[in-house]
Amino acid sequence: MKTDIQIAQEAHALPIKEIAAKVGLSENDLEPYGFDKAKINWQAINKTMANGHLGKLILVTSISPTPAGEGKSTITIGLGDAINNQLHQKTMIALREPSMGPVFGLKGGATGGGQAQVIPMEDINLHFTGDMHALTAAIDTLAALVDNYIYQGNEIGLDPNRIVLKRGIDVNDRSLRNITVGQGSKFNGVEHQSSFAITVANELMAILCLATDIDDLKKRIGLMLVGYTKDDQPVFVKDLKFEGAIAALLSNALKPNLVQTIEHTPALVHGGPFANIAHGANTVMATNLALHLSDYTLTEAGFGSDLGGQKFMDFVSKHLERKPDASVVVATVRALKYQAEGTTDHLDEENLAALRTGFKNLEQHMNNMRNYHVPVIVLINHFTTDTPAELALLQKLVKEQGIDAIVVDYHEQGSKGGVEAAKAVVDLANSGQAQLETTYSESDPVKTKIEKVAKKIYHAKDVEYSDKAEKDIQELEKIGKDKLPVIIAKTQYSFTDNQKLLGAPTDFTLHVKGASLKNGAGFIVITTGHVLDMPGLPKHPAALDIDVDNNGKISGLF
Ligand code: ADP
Repeated sequence: MKTDIQIAQEAHALPIKEIAAKVGLSENDLEPYGFDKAKINWQAINKTMANGHLGKLILVTSISPTPAGEGKSTITIGLGDAINNQLHQKTMIALREPSMGPVFGLKGGATGGGQAQVIPMEDINLHFTGDMHALTAAIDTLAALVDNYIYQGNEIGLDPNRIVLKRGIDVNDRSLRNITVGQGSKFNGVEHQSSFAITVANELMAILCLATDIDDLKKRIGLMLVGYTKDDQPVFVKDLKFEGAIAALLSNALKPNLVQTIEHTPALVHGGPFANIAHGANTVMATNLALHLSDYTLTEAGFGSDLGGQKFMDFVSKHLERKPDASVVVATVRALKYQAEGTTDHLDEENLAALRTGFKNLEQHMNNMRNYHVPVIVLINHFTTDTPAELALLQKLVKEQGIDAIVVDYHEQGSKGGVEAAKAVVDLANSGQAQLETTYSESDPVKTKIEKVAKKIYHAKDVEYSDKAEKDIQELEKIGKDKLPVIIAKTQYSFTDNQKLLGAPTDFTLHVKGASLKNGAGFIVITTGHVLDMPGLPKHPAALDIDVDNNGKISGLF
């Protein structure tokens, strides 16, 4: 069987101007990066955003991720191809840019799989159009400017030990989690503790993904909390006047990147915040642009519906010009059996009992999405090891809950692997049933917001706060920042904060460890369990299998 990278490398890409033409963009609207990638220029962005057209928005989410694989990106891309090429509807796909850390670590890239991929796969997974590097440069320039401000006199009295901004790098490097800077003589700066977060977990990534234009980008950067003075006053970036320079570093990265699928459906791949520590959706610019350019926009929310899905509905949607018209929950037979058994050892064997037990995980995800009052459909991503009896049982279990379930095989067959599903999704998006109702209201106090998500989405019995979390929340109240939306950082593997608890546990306590203000992004990150903003590399990192030959042909990405 061919690998994803082999299929992607054999694909026949069209010149990017031909892809742009499918959604009415001309060559003059593009800033090409080689043959098959382009940024959309500001003139085209501004003209498009004012065109008065808004297509339908379809959100793809999934059950809890497992090592057995769910294939959310694969389904998003395959479904987009099916609506575009089989139903002949003007379609765009909006996806996140992969982070290089996980590409070289455990997870691999994020360009889909099999016949349902965005290309050029190697470029998108590596340096692409340089957005991640621009972000890293912006994050570290900001950190250097702050340290220099302290070194050069520190008029405001910023406490070097209470700087909340982190440094950034798009590499999984656990040894940078806690560092000391400014060591040595006084000419090396003021010595203090600092730390690195992976670029995609940094607030600047979230800001890039939420900004609606350069003014908004600059305003949000100005609002970022730098730290506190020795007498407890918050200091924001605008107090130090760094927002103009940082926005200048990011202005090119704010323009969405146009690429194509293997089947030539236009795709905007832009921005990539994690869905645990951040909000987990591609840029608002890309989704809004796609809504203005096409009749159907497919977008994906990271990890399961309890993370990216919840954040999309409760937070991201209010930044978009259109709320979701339909949502797709992706499930696989293998992953549901894993939910029951907790091991990948026997997933190739038929096991109806395990499927029935594991179904509880899907049931909670699909019902959670339905409770947002957005119509839901389940797409079952077909693996060759699935047996007819398993597929039939899974469809039956979903349908008993009053939700449609269709088996798709976009991975093997491309768009032809799910025409019926494409029709069903389009019908759902056109049904006019969507009336998004969020989990909490904006005016709820921070603890009420957390409790509503914990109880309604995770099905927790109660929420417990550590002393640090209580103190963090009091600090937010003191500076009047406790009414912002919450982004709960929780393990993606479980509805609970313990990654080992699979299925759909109830009767558990959610442990809140801390709350940190992301004032420019406009949310409060609530940490639970053991979520890290700087991942490490596993014993056998994917990097060991990645190589390049003398012709520049890369292998080993997945
Ligand atoms: P997610 O978005 O949920 O992380 P991806 O779509 O990126 O998942 O897929 C993860 C991996 O699983 C990819 O390598 C992809 O090729 C593989 N995969 C997805 N669907 C299938 C399938 N139906 N059969 C075999 N492999 C699949």
